[in-house]
Amino acid sequence: MRVYNFSAGPSVLPESVLEKAKNEMLDYGGSGMSVMEMSHRSKVYESIINGAEELLREVMGIPSNYKVLFLQGGASSQFSMIPLNLMKNNKIDLVLTGMWAKKAMEEASRYGQVNVVGSSKDKTFSYIPELDKSKFDPEADYFYICENNTIYGTKFPELPDTGNVPLVADLSSCILSEPIDVSKYGLIFAGAQKNMGPAGLTVVIIREDLIGTCKEFTPQMFKYTTHSENGSMYNTPPTYAIYIHKLVLEWIKDLGGLEKMGEINRKKAAIIYDYLDSSKMFHATVQGDCRSLMNIPFVTGNEELDAKFVKEATAAGFVNLKGHRSVGGMRASIYNAMPIEGCEKLVEFMKEFERNNA
Ligand SMILES: *Cc1c(COP(=O)(O)O)cnc(C)c1O
Repeated sequence: MRVYNFSAGPSVLPESVLEKAKNEMLDYGGSGMSVMEMSHRSKVYESIINGAEELLREVMGIPSNYKVLFLQGGASSQFSMIPLNLMKNNKIDLVLTGMWAKKAMEEASRYGQVNVVGSSKDKTFSYIPELDKSKFDPEADYFYICENNTIYGTKFPELPDTGNVPLVADLSSCILSEPIDVSKYGLIFAGAQKNMGPAGLTVVIIREDLIGTCKEFTPQMFKYTTHSENGSMYNTPPTYAIYIHKLVLEWIKDLGGLEKMGEINRKKAAIIYDYLDSSKMFHATVQGDCRSLMNIPFVTGNEELDAKFVKEATAAGFVNLKGHRSVGGMRASIYNAMPIEGCEKLVEFMKEFERNNA
């Protein structure tokens, strides 16, 4: 029996995608082998990786002057790869909105100066800070944000206006959740294991003019040129993860694309936030317009009661609701593949728990 899986990542995948992968497991498209067993340089695999890129471009509306790279090393490798490739004046602007932004800040600090133009550290990263444009450095190599903060459940309600300074954004936990204007960014990256597919694949979408130079000591595998000049085939790409990513993109396209995905996601999030805002027991930890559509942290205010809730929820088939170890409480991650019924049933369960424990 499948459970309702609220994991922050790796996370739930669409059931139809898993079914399709199951049906194609032993013999992909008459090739007589699994995708896992194929040469990445075979004709049949070429159609998979090229198909995945074409679909991603179509679904996200990626302009032709952007490259799509299928890499490994997780989103975390990008924390180093970005400064190694994009730093020239050796200074950047960054908004500190949580642990992932902090990790990016620490890596960038190895190679240059990080100017923190806003921070929400004072309130455990429970909001997105207002930004004062006069603090932005027009000479910065790039302006860095983590757009959706997976751990704290915040999302930038609007993108900062960085002028000519390229905006670099970690979209690991919100990519493909709603339409975005790719042309507003210089570089977008995401670990696949939240909304794109399984772990092992990292997607980078980078404006072409940002590729070309890098620090002279940059390892070959950490240069964007290495991967862009070789069609993400300098070495063996994460072949099976890219195949599942393609199936996920087909699922999104069939469902009506990102407009429809965004509509469904807003509905799902509203079901949970509306209840949290009316409950006497459970409270959302994020208020106002910086609430994430994907990750919803909440608390009762009583640690014992939180633990009891997580335990009973797990037994009832609502799993992975425990909050991140740095925040406590609960967190419901409701990525694209979480069905509306999962959110409705979770709220029913929470109401019942509230009645029984009032
Ligand atoms: C999960 C996550 C990461 C880390 O991804 P890895 O692939 O494990 O390196 C980075 N940033 C954000 C916003 C995330 O949600």
